[in-house]
Amino acid sequence: MPSVATIRCIRCDGTGKFSFNLVRGTVCFKCDGKGIEIVDINKEEKRQLAAKKRLEEAIHQRAIMSKLYLEAAAEMNTLLGPFDIDTEIGLDKLNLACGAKFGKAIHTIRDERFMQTKAASKLSAPLPDGRNPRRIAQG
Ligand SMILES: [Zn+2]
Repeated sequence: MPSVATIRCIRCDGTGKFSFNLVRGTVCFKCDGKGIEIVDINKEEKRQLAAKKRLEEAIHQRAIMSKLYLEAAAEMNTLLGPFDIDTEIGLDKLNLACGAKFGKAIHTIRDERFMQTKAASKLSAPLPDGRNPRRIAQG
């Protein structure tokens, strides 16, 4: 038998109300307006752990995106500048120069590099049979 607990409804944050619709009015459909939910403790712990992992992954990806943007901006500034990229107008000028030279903005260059790192990290993961995919890709 699962052990259960009562928690505050995550949809309405315990108010029992949510955005208006013609069928239910403002009654939260997840908790039926009670503001609480009865949950299986094991399932709830798994859900919270998964949510925590997703948040950590999002924070990690955001840090990578920031780092890649700063690297791309610094590199483009060396190539096309120097512009005062510590100011918004300087960064705008660099973006314009980048667009004129390469047909894309700094954030696009960052996104391309991010996709390369994702592809590279997928490539570095060992295959289920233990072989190194980089070795196979290199022939
Ligand atoms: Zn609710």
